[in-house]
This record gives sequence, structure tokens and C-alpha cells, in this order.
Amino acid sequence: MFDNLSDKLDKALHILKGHGQITEINVAETLKEVRRALVDADVNYKIAKDFTARVKEKAIGENVLKSLKPGQLMVKLVKDELTELMGGDAAGINLSDSPSIILMSGLQGSGKTTFSGKLANYLKNKKTKKPLLVACDVYRPAAIDQLHVVGEQINVEVFSDRGNNDPVAIAKAGVAHAKANGNNVVIIDTAGRLAVDEAMMTEIENIHKAISPSETLFVVDSMTGQDAVNTAKAFNDVLNFDGVILTKLDGDTRGGAAISIKSVVNKPIKFIGTGEKMEAIDVFYPSRMADRILGMGDVVSLVERAQEQFDEEEARKLQKKIAKNQFGFDDFLKQIQQIKKMGNMKDLVGMIPGAGKMMKNMDIDDDAFKHIEAIIHSMTPAERAKPQIINASRKKRIGKGSGTSIQQVNQLLKQFDQMSKMMKMMQGGGGKRMMQMMGK
Ligand code: GDP
Repeated sequence: MFDNLSDKLDKALHILKGHGQITEINVAETLKEVRRALVDADVNYKIAKDFTARVKEKAIGENVLKSLKPGQLMVKLVKDELTELMGGDAAGINLSDSPSIILMSGLQGSGKTTFSGKLANYLKNKKTKKPLLVACDVYRPAAIDQLHVVGEQINVEVFSDRGNNDPVAIAKAGVAHAKANGNNVVIIDTAGRLAVDEAMMTEIENIHKAISPSETLFVVDSMTGQDAVNTAKAFNDVLNFDGVILTKLDGDTRGGAAISIKSVVNKPIKFIGTGEKMEAIDVFYPSRMADRILGMGDVVSLVERAQEQFDEEEARKLQKKIAKNQFGFDDFLKQIQQIKKMGNMKDLVGMIPGAGKMMKNMDIDDDAFKHIEAIIHSMTPAERAKPQIINASRKKRIGKGSGTSIQQVNQLLKQFDQMSKMMKMMQGGGGKRMMQMMGK
């Protein structure tokens, strides 16, 4: 996420750290580099210029030149300003109405349907919400099918009316259906065109008027850079929407949209999409994003993601198995699947402070576990439960079956053995023992 921008800002701020004595000249030089980095990331020139002007003003106000650690102070000023530019505090969505009606708007391909599903899934997982998805794209039958596929995937009901070509009527019928069926959230997916046009604007405006949504969200593809900002403006003029959803932040986006959109339409970014999977949704926290852009990682989000995937019941079962020495490869496979659900690997690594920069040229992808999974899948149930029985001929068979070498099979078995021992030690009050071993 924003690799390029992070790199350039890092270099810009290094100018300060690299100089023995910090003078007004290098502060000015740094800010010029910061501005250039922002403009390269597709931030509007004026926004970038105002940004550095504000940082400069604060730097003078806080007497950066006389401070003990001017480099660090400058980084902090840039971080604070970046946070402010992206919206300050995180903004929630209004779910107080019953049903709460959420209207999705945006261009075709921006990720509306995918995000509608993600949001429904996110709310459903909060237990108190029973969402209904409503398909209002009457122009593309495939769009209705797509929403149904998404609904099935996440086990959320989808309301559609294929014969009807009046989106306003469908939206209303969807809301009535929700009221009759106890759905306390209605998410309305609408049609989008490839570019802003009057017919589309009138249609979404009519739907908006007819259903008075609790929340109108504008979905935009972050890869579209400055265009994203212009489209946001056009939709905001008509809908006066409540918040922005930035999708495809997992891609190679330059980040300009994330940074500029709030100051152009003065509406907060509420969620971001970070992948095609239904779990790839995050609440947008401006300060955490600023940390990530400045290469400081985002441990809080990482822990939250882990917690979301954490199932207490499963964890208890696992603990019992470990205690009884019954932790096998099937359990290991389940663990891997949970990690994979947390998001794509590169994204996760990027949340570890410092690691993103260090590992950015490494080839980390979702296939990171491919070999391990293949090896485990090639084992018989008995071998998975009792890896001790895996002898040389079994290893050979497993290697062949999984398309890996005997060395790779051996390596996994060894790692698994070490891991099992470690887990056993942590369990049996051994946490303390381990700390002692580590000399703490
Ligand atoms: P719509 O026309 O606005 O409903 O857009 P879709 O939901 O159909 O999304 C268009 C394409 O973008 C699909 O191929 C989605 O899988 C993909 N997509 C949506 N959100 C994301 C995201 O956050 N990351 C990535 N990588 N792809 C996404």
C-alpha cells in the first residue's frame, strides 16, 4: 500500500536526519521533497502546497530548529498533518435507524457490489445486525447474479426483482421486505456507469429521495487517482453523501485519492477495501493510515484483524489438544486458513513497523503457504493425526503427491515438531520456564 509515497517521504525526511546541523535551508528542502512526494502520489498540487505550508508554520511555531530532536519532531508534524488531511478521527456509519438504510453509489467497476457484500458480512459478524442486500442494478442482469453469489457466500439474504426495471420501486420494495422480515440493516447496491452521466445521477438521486437513507456511501476505486476526486465531487454535488469507501487499496495505488478526497468533498473516508475477499474490509483510521504511509506500521489493526478471526471455542479445543499431545496437521491446516483470512500477506507484513520497508522487495504473496498446504493435503488422515508414523517411504510418497522435495517435507515435519514442543511448553505453566530459558 502506497509503497512509492512511503519511500519518497522516508527519503525526504532523511534529509533532516542526515544533516549534522539543521538549518532553515534543510527544513525548506525537506518540505519541498515532501511536497514533491505528495504530488507524485497524485495529490492535487494545491492540497500538497497547503499541506507543506501548514507543516512549515507549525515547525516555526514549535521552534523545530532549536528542539533536541528536530528530525523526529518534523516526522511528527508531517504525521499529524497527514492524519488531519485524511480526516482526523475515524468516522462510523449511522446504524441507529431500524432498519438502517445504506445506499451505495459510485461508478461501474468501483467495487460497489463487492463492498456491499463486505459491509453486510462485517455487520452480520457483529451479531446484533441482520442485513438484507438489495439489487437495484436493472441494466445488467449479471450484476443481480453477482450480488446473489456474494449473498450466498456470506449467508446474507438478497432481495431482487428481475422483471422490474424501475430501481426506485425495487429499492422501496426491498426496504418493505426488510421491515416485514426483521432485517435491521438494508444495503442497497445501485447501478453505475463507466463515467458520470446525467441519467445515472438522476436515477440515484431519485432512489435517494424515495428511501431517505440513513447513510449514503460513495464507493471509489483508489487506483483512479485524481479522477477519483473529480468523481467524488460530482456525486457529492447531487447526493451530499455521508462518507467515502476507498476500494482496491491493496493494489499498487499511489495513494493520492486517500489523501486528497477528504479535503475536496469534506466527507470522511469510512471504510477501505483491501482485496477481493469478503473479509478484506477495514474501518478507515486516518492516524493509522498516516503511520503506515510513514513506514511506522499499524500494529493495532494487525491485532484487531487477528481478533476478528479468533474463535474462542476453537481456541479452547486447540488448547485441550495441545495439552493431550494431540495437535496434528489438520489443526495446523486450520491455523493456516485462519491466518489467510486475515488478509493478503503483503498487506499483513506492511502492518509490522519497519517490516514493510525491509521486506517490500521480497516476493510475499498469498501463495506463501502453498507448499505447506500441498504437503499436508498429501498426507493420510492417520499421518496428519500422528506425524511420528511418517517414515522414509511415506515421506517419499508425500513429496511426490504434493510436488515437493523430500527436503521440503522433512523441513515441514521438523518445524511442526519444534512448534508442537514449544506449544506444549507454553501450555504446562511452561510460559515461565520458557522465559527463564530465554534469560528473562
Ligand atoms: P461494481 O461495478 O461497482 O459493483 O464493482 P464490483 O464490486 O463488481 O468490483 C469490480 C472489480 O473490482 C471486481 O473484479 C472485484 O473483485 C474487484 N474489487 C472490488 N473491491 C476490491 C478491492 O478492495 N481490492 C481488489 N483487489 N479488488 C477489488
